[in-house]
Amino acid sequence: TTELQRLRWPVHVEVRLKSRSTSRFETIRTHVQAWITSFDRINLSSSLDGWEDVPELAASVERIVTSESACPSQSLSVDEMALQIHVYQPCESDAFEEFSNSTNEDDDETMAATVRELPNRSWEGLWDSLIYEDNIKLKLLDYIHATLVFSDAEVDFNLVSWNRVVLLHGPPGTGKTSLCRALAQKLSIRLSQRYSHARLLEINSHSLFSKWFSESGKLVQRLFSSISELADEEDAFLVVLIDEVESLTAARASAMAGTEPSDGLRVVNALLTQLDKLKHRKNVLVMSTSNLVKAIDSAFVDRADIVQYVDLPPREAVYEILRTSLCEIINRGIVSSTNVPSLQEALIYERTAPAHSSTMISNGSDAHEKSKLLGLRLLTLATQCKAQKMSGRALRRLPVLALARYIGAGSIISSDNTEIKGRTKVNGSTGS
Ligand code: ADP
Repeated sequence: TTELQRLRWPVHVEVRLKSRSTSRFETIRTHVQAWITSFDRINLSSSLDGWEDVPELAASVERIVTSESACPSQSLSVDEMALQIHVYQPCESDAFEEFSNSTNEDDDETMAATVRELPNRSWEGLWDSLIYEDNIKLKLLDYIHATLVFSDAEVDFNLVSWNRVVLLHGPPGTGKTSLCRALAQKLSIRLSQRYSHARLLEINSHSLFSKWFSESGKLVQRLFSSISELADEEDAFLVVLIDEVESLTAARASAMAGTEPSDGLRVVNALLTQLDKLKHRKNVLVMSTSNLVKAIDSAFVDRADIVQYVDLPPREAVYEILRTSLCEIINRGIVSSTNVPSLQEALIYERTAPAHSSTMISNGSDAHEKSKLLGLRLLTLATQCKAQKMSGRALRRLPVLALARYIGAGSIISSDNTEIKGRTKVNGSTGS
């Protein structure tokens, strides 16, 4: 059996409960397990249907999905997988606590950090919306998994050690902050059997730095003592996100150069000392982001177990971002319904299509032909966006800009009363 066990692919099944469900997670897990094992094969990376027919599930469940996996095939038989079922109920409250680090008589504007309960409803879908090459997302999950294995085995920290710090860096708008949040959300779901709670504490270094700088490292110490209070709850998993970490740590470099007072130096030293203390906490993970890795103190970079560069999206990722944006506006009824080809389909069309066909306008006769032209056009657009070095953030707002332009054009057309006709024509074409 151990040999068999080894040959199985781990498959994570995420079961989201309705907000008003009061079912016990364990009961739901048992039902899901029984329901899934009744199938011959299960698709990976997809939403599963049919649980509505199981009364116990229909009453409580909102969605069941299988996560992406390193397994190359798209589906697996039940014998080929090691099922891991995670039942969760996202926290509805968007309200987050604020850590005010100011002394009482001070202004209450200072927000040292915000805390959110995980998994949180507002970050559902965030993980899937982020598209990267090189499996960055799975790599990060594997790293956490590895640290858990070591922690569980009580590996001697003097011989093998790690800092529980991850640093993501790269150009602005490439989804680094979102990825940290999405990862925290993912972990809270994956680790729900181990920890009864999970929280994300976000420190925005940029907005706080000037304040901290003038008040020396004391404030950092106070913030970290709040963090260690949260971490004392061993039953709770805590992710600490330090955004734009370069603004905190650049201070030391300038202090060294003698251009700044030594306050800056104290801030950074305090931060590093506190980070060192956190590494002994099994239930804590520190994630940090930076747009400028060169500006970060090397002592900080040195503490990161993983320094991951997050680049601007390549053409394939641009296609996926455009495709998912387009599908969303189709689903919401803003653009008339068309079949938007997947990246794989579009690439096949590209390989087989004559070079000029992506610029041809379909006369709308054949739905397949139309979808093919749409795929080719999106690929052309993706190439252009890539050449313009557009970030994920810039890409995600393209639909709004496109609609604004279209509305503008529409109102000009309306003066000669052909607005509606004009719209129908555009909607009915290849989804421009
Ligand atoms: P950063 O922290 O790198 O400046 P953000 O996390 O603030 O970037 O990203 C802003 C938004 O841009 C995200 O919420 C997401 O909608 C979009 N985005 C950025 N990169 C990507 C990507 N690789 N895939 C999908 N969406 C992305």
